Amino acid sequence: MMQQYLKIKKKYESCIVFFRLGDFYEMFYEDAKTASKELDITLTGKECGQEEKAPMCGVPYHAYTNYVSKLISKGYKVAICEQIENPLACKGLVKREVTRVITPGTIIEGNLLDESKNNFICCVYILNDKCGMCFADISTGELKITETFGSNLFSEVKNELARFSPSEVIYRGDKKYSGSIKKFVKNRLNSSFGGVLVESYDYKKKLLKYFNNQDLENLNNTVSLETLGGLFSYLEYTQKDNLKGFSKIDFYTKNQYMKLDLNTIRNLELVETMRNREKRGTLLWVLDKTNTAMGRRLLRNWIERPLIDLIKINNRQEAVSELVSDMFLRDNLIEGLSKINDVGRILTRLICNSINCREIKSLGYSISNFKSIKNLLSESNSHILKDIYENIDLFEDICKLIENSIVDEPPVAIKEGGIIKFGFNKEIDGLKYDMNNSKEIITKMENDERKKTGIPKLKITFNRVFGYCIEVTNSFLNLVPENYIRKQTLSNSERFVTKELKDLEYRISNAKEKLISLEFEVFEKVRAEIYNYHKKIEKTVNIIAVLDVLVSLAVVAHKEHYTKPEVNLSDKIILKNSKHPVIEKMLKDDSCPFVPNDINLDNNLNNINIITGPNMAGKSTYMRQIALNILMAHIGSFVPADCAEIGIVDGIFTRIGASDDLSSGQSTFMVEMQEVAQIMKNATQKSLLILDEIGRGTSTFDGISIARAVLEYISFELKSKTLFSTHYHELTKISEDIKNIKNYSIAIKKNNDDIIFLRKIIPGSIDESFGIETAKLAKVPSWIINRAKEISKNMKKV
Ligand code: ADP
Repeated sequence: MMQQYLKIKKKYESCIVFFRLGDFYEMFYEDAKTASKELDITLTGKECGQEEKAPMCGVPYHAYTNYVSKLISKGYKVAICEQIENPLACKGLVKREVTRVITPGTIIEGNLLDESKNNFICCVYILNDKCGMCFADISTGELKITETFGSNLFSEVKNELARFSPSEVIYRGDKKYSGSIKKFVKNRLNSSFGGVLVESYDYKKKLLKYFNNQDLENLNNTVSLETLGGLFSYLEYTQKDNLKGFSKIDFYTKNQYMKLDLNTIRNLELVETMRNREKRGTLLWVLDKTNTAMGRRLLRNWIERPLIDLIKINNRQEAVSELVSDMFLRDNLIEGLSKINDVGRILTRLICNSINCREIKSLGYSISNFKSIKNLLSESNSHILKDIYENIDLFEDICKLIENSIVDEPPVAIKEGGIIKFGFNKEIDGLKYDMNNSKEIITKMENDERKKTGIPKLKITFNRVFGYCIEVTNSFLNLVPENYIRKQTLSNSERFVTKELKDLEYRISNAKEKLISLEFEVFEKVRAEIYNYHKKIEKTVNIIAVLDVLVSLAVVAHKEHYTKPEVNLSDKIILKNSKHPVIEKMLKDDSCPFVPNDINLDNNLNNINIITGPNMAGKSTYMRQIALNILMAHIGSFVPADCAEIGIVDGIFTRIGASDDLSSGQSTFMVEMQEVAQIMKNATQKSLLILDEIGRGTSTFDGISIARAVLEYISFELKSKTLFSTHYHELTKISEDIKNIKNYSIAIKKNNDDIIFLRKIIPGSIDESFGIETAKLAKVPSWIINRAKEISKNMKKV
């Protein structure tokens, strides 16, 4: 057995091998040492034919997921090695094989996954100036692929990785990028790097196993094919034969969505906070009133990928509007949606043959609610809701099948019986009857035999040696019929058997085993029948997810009194009394509620706004709130403002605060300048730039010079709509020279030495930074405050 182990381990050297031994998964040698330390389990030893025992530790098989999840979260890969023969039925050593390698990006166990987000694995492929990226979620069957070309590949890869935030990334192609991608994945994304793929195959041939020729022809490009092929060769290594879940390749181009770079996703705290990477305090937190796991995942995708197609945006808005104005429809849909379980992931388990009866029941229960949801939408007017109404399938046959075949509260195990409902299969019912009523069946036969033979005291008894026998006392032996076969003679009676009695005995004693195997057989048939519908169910489930997100946006819009923005093709951004959706919500019960503000931007005279104001005045909040309002409008949501006109924005680029990429070994100023460089390279006239205090990381003169040059470049070359906050009051003079730059500031009130923040944005600049007053507010010792005042006074004199 140890030889068998070593042979398997050699093939899976980079993994911890969970070697199935009866009811345990055992680990040996270095794996055992590592696992015992990481999992805090006892290290023992096993005789292995050598002088020293092999270090060993083990975990019970039924609880393996907890242990696997701990190891995965610590960056290990786990190879599950199963016994692939029935140990009772085979002679000698039982055959074992690795049936799956579990890595962060290839988890399918529901209890190890976060239902609110996709678990993507990504393959990045870079060769020369071409790049392909493929994102797959094997727990839901989603598969997205994109390509980019040109000289700016690495930064595009980073942005796309940040947008999808995959839990594992693998790389193929040009070696020169592999190190930096690994570093980025581990340090910036906090994700796992699955490795660099070196082998090369005829990928098309490999992929034809999973997709039809047409799908692959549509990719029509070697980059996509190589990327997809690379991903699938890794997935084959981890999933073995269980890779049927992907039915559709979703090819997208970066032009379909608003450009959001890594820093923008982080800075705007779209789906997780910068400080704790939590959902609370993010835009997702505000907008998420979804009722299904599929909806929750989709909303996240919508937020990370805002649309830039006016028709699509208007369609979403129209649906949200209808749901906002129809409270009855909204509330009833919520009730229906809340009864739908995570069918997206259940379907994948169905496809991978790992579904259990509880999940089938949960699928049936979820599907049975489609009808009421569909009925609610029968009178809808908006395009999307009408479309949803028309495309929701009801699957009544499948519902009935599940309802009639599987017991109401099935056990988790599928091979131990107790799963098929009474009335579904006659043979199963018969076997159950035999098992549960053996006493009655025997008594009935006893009575029948008494009647047939006329022997009043005939008895059917049971003993260990002969099993069931018919016992006749000596005085009635003359009435014993010919078909009775004598088995045993006792002092005053004889024991007989008949063929019928032996058949009955066989039926009763084998009923349990037969029942279990027959129940499993029937279960497999039911499962196969449901499987035939999986693509159609998936289609309806995707539609339900869209509905759930639209309802969620409507609930928020209604509750928070948001406004429907007018999204159009103009160059305008006009918001009246807009608020920051997150901070407003956080301040709701505060004594100082959020102060709303306006904005008016275009590509002419109001192209660039310079914003001055003391620290803590609310400059960052204001700039972020404008960006968030715009982004919300592009996902189809209403916005926290009294009135809004928003011309399509093709990208939001932000440079806010010190994004400490210390791990990359760069100074803060260098990182700042690299970010500025990227923004200047990628922004267009239709983009929105949020630049918070550019040029602060260097000497004052250099800083001011760079900041002014950036403003001039935007003003003359890019023409992107820009919000630019600064402490350099010298910069505000630029508006005298350049017409499309305007000065704004955040109002404050001075009260002797103190300042009061009014949070209101007003035209014109402030030429004081009130740094010392802010330091006082922060309770810096008064000695330092007084001395700072003196120094400042002296400097001003000079
Ligand atoms: P600055 O960038 O000017 O230093 P911030 O934008 O970080 O200031 O704002 C500081 C704090 O002020 C925020 O955390 C928020 O709580 C509060 N704040 C900002 N804007 C507003 C507003 N419009 N209404 C109410 N509170 C606000």
